[in-house]
Amino acid sequence: MVMEANKSVFDRAATLAPLGYRLRLPGPTDVPEQIREALARPITNHRGPEFRALLAQVESRLQPLFGTANRVLIYSCSGTGMMEASLANIVVPGDRVLVIVHGQFGERYASIGKALGAHVETIEFPWGEGIDPAAIEDRLHSTHYHAVVAIHNESSTGCVADLAAIGRLLRDRSTLFLVDSVSGLGGIEMCQDEWGVDIVVSASQKALMCPPGLAFASISAKAWAVVNRETSAPRFYFDFRRALSAIEGYETAFTPAVSLVAALGEALGMIHSEGLPAVLQRHQRLSFALRAGGLALGLQDFSRGAIKSNTVVVFEMPETVKGGDVVRAMYERYSTVIAGARNRLAGRVIRFGTMGYLTESTILTDLFYLENVLREFGLPVQAGSGVAAATAYLSSSTTGSGAAHLARVQ
Ligand SMILES: *Cc1c(COP(=O)(O)O)cnc(C)c1O
Repeated sequence: MVMEANKSVFDRAATLAPLGYRLRLPGPTDVPEQIREALARPITNHRGPEFRALLAQVESRLQPLFGTANRVLIYSCSGTGMMEASLANIVVPGDRVLVIVHGQFGERYASIGKALGAHVETIEFPWGEGIDPAAIEDRLHSTHYHAVVAIHNESSTGCVADLAAIGRLLRDRSTLFLVDSVSGLGGIEMCQDEWGVDIVVSASQKALMCPPGLAFASISAKAWAVVNRETSAPRFYFDFRRALSAIEGYETAFTPAVSLVAALGEALGMIHSEGLPAVLQRHQRLSFALRAGGLALGLQDFSRGAIKSNTVVVFEMPETVKGGDVVRAMYERYSTVIAGARNRLAGRVIRFGTMGYLTESTILTDLFYLENVLREFGLPVQAGSGVAAATAYLSSSTTGSGAAHLARVQ
């Protein structure tokens, strides 16, 4: 009986992705064939010359994405693991940590800090709106914090934090600046050293086009001093000191996900052969084209009054249509997997990943399907209007006037 009930689930597992499956989430993202092939390479000794050479190459190709000369630590875990590691290495119970919260991932960082016994305070900004550095500065005047935490790209709202502005506030203080760039790195400019970010964490399954399972941390000299000083911070697998001495010999402290590192090597090769500036520019252009298309369909961009994300586009749903219903219809009709929300925005928004392996045709296809779905839900959508608006945006933005064009349409 149990077997019978589960049969359809097993059938789906056997097929895995149905024909025409389109993974359009804000992570994990689509993994191109070239990278998937790298996953099939032989597993080599993780302390042998082949893997050492691979790690050295991967690290040197990651550094420009971070905008850093720091060593980059590579872990086998999800992005959240690295968020936890970043705090576990610098806080002891009672340390004051200020988390800038303007979405779900800021809330998660605050929860991690509390779980580790830190004295967590938050400074909250309305979801979908910008963060105000002056308000942060006020808090810094009244209280001394051990660390300030920001989310580079809030995947729940499609907003980007002005890290340079926050970095300026912290540069001359002993306070450390921690940043989650899980959904930013490789899709949105990151200048860790220039902006004075002390710890940047990221992961493989977003703009880096890889399967989930690898995460990274880049740590400044200022932060290393704290990592080394807090000898009573409880950590073992995530002990950055251990990871640093391993990477100095181009190894990892414990057995790494060898196949994923091979895939990452391939992904970084693709990014650098396209050219990092071109990759970042493509993310910007395609995300804004999707916004232009959504606007023509009558959808509001949720990231109002903020620096808009190049990697995640969040649309607000009209009152009459539930986000979850659109997500379901996109999957059932078109095998296109987009995201809703699993937080206070549940039902109110739909979210598209605009990061990693995507081209103009990806977002034009998204818009074509979205138009049809919205029309089915009774919205007054004119056939072809989303695609037309995005196409107009794309042709204007080849000449560099894309943002100006969008400003005019809005
Ligand atoms: C995806 C994501 C994470 C990490 O999530 P995991 O599921 O643990 O990999 C963290 N922060 C942000 C902003 C993200 O988008």
